[in-house]
Amino acid sequence: MSGDRSDIEAIKARLDIVQVVQRYVGLRPAGERWTGVCPFHEETKPSFSVSSSLGMFYCFGCQASGDVIDFYSRINGLEFSEALRDLAEEAGVQLRNKPGGGDVSAEREERRICYDLHAVALAYYRNELDGPRGARAREYLYSKRGLSEGMVRQFELGLSPNAWDGLKRRLTQSGYSPEQGVTAGLLSQSKGGRIYDRFRNRIIFPIHDLGGRVIAFGGRAIGDGEPKYLNSSETPIFKKGEHLYGLYQARKSVTQSKQVLLTEGYSDVLSLVQFGFQNACGVLGTALGPSQIKRLAGLCKEVTLVFDGDRAGRQAALRSAEMILQQGLSVYVVTLPQDEDVDGLLRSQGAESFRRLLAESREGLAFCLNMIRYSHVPRDIMNWAVSFLSNLGQRSWQAYFLPRIATGLNISEAELREAISDRAKPSGPSPTGTPRRRTAQNPEAPSRGRLDKDFLRFALCHPEYMDHLQRIGLEGALRTDRGRRFWSKLVQHGVEAVQPHLDEGEKQFYIQCRFAADSGQEPRMLWEDIRARVEEIKHRKRYSELQQALSEAQSRGDWQEVYRLLQQISQSTKGGE
Ligand SMILES: [Zn+2]
Repeated sequence: MSGDRSDIEAIKARLDIVQVVQRYVGLRPAGERWTGVCPFHEETKPSFSVSSSLGMFYCFGCQASGDVIDFYSRINGLEFSEALRDLAEEAGVQLRNKPGGGDVSAEREERRICYDLHAVALAYYRNELDGPRGARAREYLYSKRGLSEGMVRQFELGLSPNAWDGLKRRLTQSGYSPEQGVTAGLLSQSKGGRIYDRFRNRIIFPIHDLGGRVIAFGGRAIGDGEPKYLNSSETPIFKKGEHLYGLYQARKSVTQSKQVLLTEGYSDVLSLVQFGFQNACGVLGTALGPSQIKRLAGLCKEVTLVFDGDRAGRQAALRSAEMILQQGLSVYVVTLPQDEDVDGLLRSQGAESFRRLLAESREGLAFCLNMIRYSHVPRDIMNWAVSFLSNLGQRSWQAYFLPRIATGLNISEAELREAISDRAKPSGPSPTGTPRRRTAQNPEAPSRGRLDKDFLRFALCHPEYMDHLQRIGLEGALRTDRGRRFWSKLVQHGVEAVQPHLDEGEKQFYIQCRFAADSGQEPRMLWEDIRARVEEIKHRKRYSELQQALSEAQSRGDWQEVYRLLQQISQSTKGGE
């Protein structure tokens, strides 16, 4: 479901696509465009191009293309509607037509208040860390954990003091009700109705969304408080399993290196970054989930899991590696020494020791197979293999995984194949393939389509020739329905303003052509060629129409008409030579 056209246009008018892309990709100006290394495919030389004036990006390498909403949703692994919602908020555009219905303005207002409350809370927590009540927390962060002031500032760490109503009072002073604080997950409410600070006597780790706004907090107990770690509850702006700690700070490094280090805890992330591993982020207390992987898949190709070396850590690594592999990313697993965590290792042995572990990390599939071989009984091994292969993000990846898994687990490939098809049977015939076949039977011959595309490409690259093209009657020379539809949109709206009226396929073609426009080719030569081809097609079309009419007139016995048509045909052949 796409949003309202005018909403989308309003967002695009207010947000500069170059600025949004720059949050993820280093861009350099190149004439009217900006170029950089494509975040969507592996490359070293920059094929990725962004245009402010067109409001579009286009990759000459992998043909990824779209507007600011397409970019934002793709790089963040979001649905179009989610991206639309985020960007609308950033642009201050009120969505008229919200997918899924609901009271838009009330919901939006609630979310806005949540963001505001988090900003107030952030300032409060940070202030507390610097203040007189923060001595013990500062001692913990700087001396015990060895964090630098720069790190504390970069990650906006704070302190919730040992008080029941510190934040509550701050929120009410700022004009918010305690109930709003509860909705935002910052205050808690007892069964008796008493409202109090959720985080008490804790180091506060703000959790940012990818736009840099604080959407939740994690709190680590100072001393022996229970639980040791406490996160915000789910709120209108924070869903568990959707976000990763530190990804906002890591995103540039992750998109550049195409790699991410994924850890379990807050302090692991901070230590890694402080020791120079900028591309680190952490799962937030819960097991890694599909939304988080989707988010990472938009930014990188390779995930390195840095989980604890104990049994629980290895199990978590196994489940995570499975899921990441199934989504088509590469995985590596770092094996930490028993009873050692990243933070401790880095502080006792330095960055070099971790770099050695990285170099020795195991490829994810090999890691999984090894774990399965040693910890499972035969029946479970087969079940694991079948379930892994049945849940691949794309069926075709079985071709890659199946032989490797069969070899790794010592199962016959044929048997494994059979077990998978047995499992697949009850769900009926596979839906894959059917739609594609249908489009392959497109009634329009490809050569005709290609010719239409040549004409339309010329129009898009050289809008100054639109009048000429209309005058020579390009419409009559287009051979496909698609081509004619596209052309009539161009005529109706003009090349510059047609974009919002295009469907997905048309849009991609439009962007390709528009980005190729400044290839420096002399348009007049091209125009002569185009005109000749249009004339030729129109002439042949006219000729075959006359022939058709002639044979009809003959079969009717309308000899007067036959005579007239023969005359016309003779004239047209002469004119065409
Ligand atoms: Zn690309």
